[in-house]
Amino acid sequence: MYFIETRGNDGQHREKVSFSEAILAPISSFGGLYSPESLPVLDQAFFDSHIDSDYKTLARDILSRFEIDIEADIIDQALSLYDNFDDPTNPVPVVRVYDDLYVSELWHGPTRAFKDMALQPFGSVLSAIAQKRGEQYLILTATSGDTGPAALETFKNKANVRVACMYPDGGTSDVQRLQMVTEDADNLKVIGVKGDFDDTQSALKKLLGSQAFKATLQKKNIHLSAANSVNFGRIIFQTIYHVHSYLELLRQKVISNGEKVYLDVPSGNFGNALGGYYALKMGLPVEKILIASNKNNILTQLINTGAYDLRHSSVVPTTSPAMDILISSNVERVLFDLFGAGRTRELMQQLESEKHYQLSDDELQQIQAIFAADYCEDEEGKQYIKKAFADGYLMDPHTATCFKTYETCRDRPLKTIVYSTAEWTKFSPVIANALTGEVDTHDIDALKSIARKAGIEIPPMIRELFEKEIAQKTVIEKEDIEKEILAFLE
Ligand SMILES: *Cc1c(COP(=O)(O)O)cnc(C)c1O
Repeated sequence: MYFIETRGNDGQHREKVSFSEAILAPISSFGGLYSPESLPVLDQAFFDSHIDSDYKTLARDILSRFEIDIEADIIDQALSLYDNFDDPTNPVPVVRVYDDLYVSELWHGPTRAFKDMALQPFGSVLSAIAQKRGEQYLILTATSGDTGPAALETFKNKANVRVACMYPDGGTSDVQRLQMVTEDADNLKVIGVKGDFDDTQSALKKLLGSQAFKATLQKKNIHLSAANSVNFGRIIFQTIYHVHSYLELLRQKVISNGEKVYLDVPSGNFGNALGGYYALKMGLPVEKILIASNKNNILTQLINTGAYDLRHSSVVPTTSPAMDILISSNVERVLFDLFGAGRTRELMQQLESEKHYQLSDDELQQIQAIFAADYCEDEEGKQYIKKAFADGYLMDPHTATCFKTYETCRDRPLKTIVYSTAEWTKFSPVIANALTGEVDTHDIDALKSIARKAGIEIPPMIRELFEKEIAQKTVIEKEDIEKEILAFLE
């Protein structure tokens, strides 16, 4: 299968690229994204045939239907990383909370957030291709929390790949920071930057434009790549768990084959939701995909009114920080799939130059046939956390936003799969506040108080973080980032 560009081709780039090309150098004409030219089809017989499959068997079959240019042994190696999840036979448990609400838990991997679902196998594939080609890669990431730990974990000690990861010092949770600064490997560099996430991100952009930086990379024959969520190498692994979650409901005999369900996704950059969209297009029986947001509700606006309007908005910090996003990059792939490259280019260029676009009535109807959306304020989220806990389910503030869409966005009484994107351990102060009213608690105290209240243990990989040696001690002004990274490459 080949990949084509969401904003059309400028005659300078090749018209189609293979999967490995799309993930290694994801830069395309007019700033577009690579998207699959067509999608495999999963029919009812497919679901019948996988009723007894474990996760890796299912994943192998779906990936093979994408016909990507990656050898079977590399895929097997990548998928074997799911063996390190809590339950190797089922890395993604689907848990009943209410009769028609099931939670698909995507956080049973090493860093306790759903980023592991895609970054674990993606890191393995990228390193394997780099080795095969005899090329060296540098991955640069700026993180506000969950991507950094997951990227470091997957690339740690991997051949032919180095990672420089920047985070806003003081802008992440204690657990997230410790997950990064305790990573000890020669190919990893973690840099705390004084300032907020925007400072960190703009410093990264500046670095990418620097001549000295480019010259050093060239001299050392190092290629630059990205592990952000627009990379199709991550998206492809995010189609699989949607299919798996449906199969889990079949296995638990709460639906019959072909019965439609709602997918309910806490959304930021729209990677998770896009995986659901592709699964639906491939044939997964989905009534609608519910898009949950927090107060940064640009996606609620888009899906309810057809307007993507950045003119009057700025990002507000919330208790679900991984969703504090206004430029939701993967929406572009849905626009492309529904409306084509010409229209997508027009809309995206308008967004860049005028900070807004408006879909036509007909386009909006097509969007609303697939998606419904709402947003959840922090205070409401706390109430959902409290209520679910009283009903026997402990969840994080990102997952909680889906309980709002579950209440407000369904027209039919169908089973709903809520995607849980983080374990309670990653956002414990907010949860402790919801459950006990305590405020301003440090992570370690909040973890203990939740564990006590819920009668559970703090998972070892989180508890041990507080005793591990700090391996990464660099905290600098943003002006010094370039110097620091050049020194790391020496
Ligand atoms: C990244 C993240 C999200 C948002 O996912 P997208 O694929 O960017 O929409 C939601 N919750 C958590 C905990 C995350 O880490």
